[in-house]
Amino acid sequence: KVLCATAFVIGFLAVFWKDSFKPETLSGARVLLTGASAGIGEQMAYHYARFGAEIVLTARREAVLQKVMEKCLALGAKKIFYIPADMSNPLEPEKVVHFALQKLGGLDYLVLNHIGTTRFQMWDGDVEYTRWLMQVNFFSYVSLATAALPTLEKNQGSLVVVSSLTGKIPTPFTTSYSATKFALDGFFSSLRHELSMQKKNISVTLCILGLIDTKSALESTRGKVYLPASPAADAALAIIRGGALRMREVFYPGWLHLVCCLGVLFPCDPALQSFYSPQGGPGSSPIP
Ligand code: NDP
Repeated sequence: KVLCATAFVIGFLAVFWKDSFKPETLSGARVLLTGASAGIGEQMAYHYARFGAEIVLTARREAVLQKVMEKCLALGAKKIFYIPADMSNPLEPEKVVHFALQKLGGLDYLVLNHIGTTRFQMWDGDVEYTRWLMQVNFFSYVSLATAALPTLEKNQGSLVVVSSLTGKIPTPFTTSYSATKFALDGFFSSLRHELSMQKKNISVTLCILGLIDTKSALESTRGKVYLPASPAADAALAIIRGGALRMREVFYPGWLHLVCCLGVLFPCDPALQSFYSPQGGPGSSPIP
């Protein structure tokens, strides 16, 4: 009964709630976007370009970034640059932020989205891999944000951090990945408090995504996860909208919010495990 009532209230609010997102507010906004060469990051680049933003893209593959940049220009980006960088190198994050400041003269949005290749398999004891993934998925986010805080404070800007359902509720086959996403939640949710206590007007938006139909996610989960995949372009728009509205958290698809609340109140491991195939064992390929 409680579930039905909650679903009814959410449905009612969804029908009568007017979307206050105004894409025109992003015209001329200065954005640094990571993981921009593929998947959700690439789709975010195209949305920001359509809205007339000034963008710096980063990821490792230069040739792919070049192609994304050209498409962004055709879509209407006011200014666009790219910088190839490998976030497993602790020196790269600061370099990337300095490049963006030099090219755009400041930042209004820092969108942290990249991830290192993730093994979708049972824990195999590889501590060194977990350390590496922590550097790519967590420490580089901390370094990028730290380098950008002064300009974001000056411009009353926004930090947008892309996370996952597995950063709220642990799921099988994602030990190291899940740890990096929980770490992001802990760090950036605490930072949000501190910024507010110091009366610094920087918003921190944590985005909790379910399965999205990016190439890497579909390839790695095929036959192993029984969940519907949502479109990457829609996920990208939900993230951008949440950042622009300075929301604390974005859940995409929306029903994940209910799943997270119920998962915390009534943990039920067998129910959760029923969405995963026991064959998600060693040899599985990357998953975001
Ligand atoms: P993709 O695998 O499609 O893209 C990952 C991006 O990160 C690419 O641009 C890649 O570019 C870049 N990247 C990879 N390694 C590095 C590195 N060492 N240094 C710098 N950049 C790197 O990921 P998705 O689009 O699927 O995921 C995007 C975000 O959404 C992630 O934070 C992920 O956790 C989250 N998410 C995704 C879900 C999904 O189902 N797709 C589900 C839940 C959350 P390059 O190879 O050129 O470096």
